[in-house]
Amino acid sequence: MADTYPELAHVTDWVFDLDNTLYPARTVFPEIDRRMTQFVAGYLGIDEEAALAIQKDYYARHGTTLKGMMDAHGMAPGGFLFHVHEVDLSGVPRCDLLAGSIARLEGRKYIYTNGSKRHADRMATHLGIDHLLDGLTGIEDTRYHPKPDLRSYMAFCDTHGVDPDRAVFFDDMSRNLRPAHELGFTTVLVRSHDRPPGEPERACHRPDGGEAAPHVHYVTTDLAAFLERAAAWKKPNGKE
Ligand SMILES: [Mg+2]
Repeated sequence: MADTYPELAHVTDWVFDLDNTLYPARTVFPEIDRRMTQFVAGYLGIDEEAALAIQKDYYARHGTTLKGMMDAHGMAPGGFLFHVHEVDLSGVPRCDLLAGSIARLEGRKYIYTNGSKRHADRMATHLGIDHLLDGLTGIEDTRYHPKPDLRSYMAFCDTHGVDPDRAVFFDDMSRNLRPAHELGFTTVLVRSHDRPPGEPERACHRPDGGEAAPHVHYVTTDLAAFLERAAAWKKPNGKE
């Protein structure tokens, strides 16, 4: 357990992935997935079973179903993005502890997602953190290059004037942290919402065992607690 965060000493910008990082994706992803299948089936004029196979194939080969549909079929992205993310958010739990800890962080805060900007905006409002953010980046803002494509991160940094050497990046997928680390971000793997049964909540630990990866600086299974401690540690009378 790390009591201090040496890699955060210089951080002025806090960059958060959205799905499964700031809320449990299982609360809306089955519905988003279903709506993707529906859209692909309708667009290509095929049944949903065939559409699901295409969806999975494009996700694996193009990074997102959307990118596959754009590359392989010349589909315009707007209708797809609107349709798939237009889900009921009432089942998504709000976490006051997380909102409070984000509020206490000094510096700029961003959401950076492979989903649509509208999805990020709706979810941030639902979670009660929209007013705490300095910006949102959706897939439209990265020319539809999804994480972990390096071009996506560069578009994010350009848009907001974020210097990776002064920023920390939170994501629930280790593979998305690799390019961030290459660019100079401090990286945190967030496992708040897919903690294996029986594993205790830990605000912060170093990667170990199966998580061992040189591009991951910290792992947390309790993001709110991680941020709470980071905010306290970075106060002017702290060790900054
Ligand atoms: Mg995610």
